[in-house]
Amino acid sequence: MLGYLLARAGVDVVILEKHADFFRDFRGDTIHPSTLEVMDELGLLDGLLKIPHSEIRTLSGNFGGTTVTIGDFSHVPGRCKFVAFMPQWDFLNYLAAEGKRFPGFTLRMETEAVDLLRENGAVRGVVARTHDGQETIRAKLVVAADGRHSTLREKAGLRVVEIGAPIDALWMRLSKKAGDPSQSFGTAVPGGIFVTIDRLTYYQCAFVIRKGGYAELQAGGLAAFRQKIAAMVPHLADRVDELRGWDDVRLLEVRVDRLERWSMPGLLCIGDAAHAMSPVGGVGINLAVQDAVAAANRLTASLASGTPKPSDLEAVQRRREFPTKVTQGIQVFIQDRFLNRVLQARGPISLPWPLRALALVPALRRIPARIIGVGVRPEHVAKQAVPPLQV
Ligand SMILES: Cc1cc2nc3c(=O)[nH]c(=O)nc-3n(C[C@H](O)[C@H](O)[C@H](O)COP(=O)(O)OP(=O)(O)OC[C@H]3O[C@@H](n4cnc5c(N)ncnc54)[C@H](O)[C@@H]3O)c2cc1C
Repeated sequence: MLGYLLARAGVDVVILEKHADFFRDFRGDTIHPSTLEVMDELGLLDGLLKIPHSEIRTLSGNFGGTTVTIGDFSHVPGRCKFVAFMPQWDFLNYLAAEGKRFPGFTLRMETEAVDLLRENGAVRGVVARTHDGQETIRAKLVVAADGRHSTLREKAGLRVVEIGAPIDALWMRLSKKAGDPSQSFGTAVPGGIFVTIDRLTYYQCAFVIRKGGYAELQAGGLAAFRQKIAAMVPHLADRVDELRGWDDVRLLEVRVDRLERWSMPGLLCIGDAAHAMSPVGGVGINLAVQDAVAAANRLTASLASGTPKPSDLEAVQRRREFPTKVTQGIQVFIQDRFLNRVLQARGPISLPWPLRALALVPALRRIPARIIGVGVRPEHVAKQAVPPLQV
């Protein structure tokens, strides 16, 4: 997203992606109203919504046998009053295709940043590994947007504040059949949480476990694991055999952390590289997009005329740190107070009081919808930083 915004503003950008494509299952699928609003501001929304997706207007879950509507997006500000569920590779491919319209936009696949190039105490580029060997790419500014296992933030030696998460997620696919619910849904029972994300032709599923609990689950055998899923989500019972081995189940380590300082001269970290997000609320992608918009708004002018000063980079952190801390605080509260309790429970679980309140007073459902859908301090594309599209 930042690559797109900068290239549209006339800045030369080289985006490095270590994989050959964006096609992976573990990225999360949600595009929230705040991101859809950014896409609208950029004139890219109508094109985006032509890509197959589903639109979620309310968020529901089943907690210990009671189904509760948790969020109602019909009142969020902005054009789209829904969360779009779209595989993230479709979203990224769309942005990349749109970016290629600008002469300054270069996307280099299978090019992995392995180190920082430093000169006189400042970052001046990266060392990248390609098919043809190592290469040095010089830049006025390096932006580390390389996710929660960021190589670049590690090479920079930036201090990480570990917040931790008591959960991990097992990621798997199960087929979708005619008559199945076309809805993404969460089910919580004592000892387990199962989330199905509707990907139109199949379900992307997450089985949330307590941190470090995978080995124990595997020791119980695949048949027992399949049975657990079938008991939690009965309409999937006829296809749990599609999980033929543990190779069909991928462990995704959940991390919550953030950098003390997001930048150093010549380097800025954004997205999960600056603050790894928990999957709770499915807000990480949207926060990363908001970081990108804030960075573009702040940096296009200095990039066009020279090299951004350390104070410009620090300003991006100042702008985005508060929303990050608040969002991570809410995620950690939910992880520790609700998810962990469900995972540790051995007997029946009762509906927590916030869910009881949401069940009783429908108007309250606007609050979680606002927090999830729009979040704290939503960013808007500044017209003076990123010009309108020429048609
Ligand atoms: C199990 C799980 C489920 C989640 N579900 C959701 C969800 O539904 N919705 C949501 O909003 N958030 C979700 N999140 C959080 C979300 O995945 C992240 O917050 C979000 O992807 C961060 O975006 P990013 O661009 O910063 O990093 P990433 O999405 O991790 O992207 C980093 C990119 O950089 C590439 N890369 C990495 N290292 C290098 C390198 N050295 N050189 C070149 N390229 C490199 C990677 O291949 C990748 O393409 C989930 C997280 C987890 C763990």
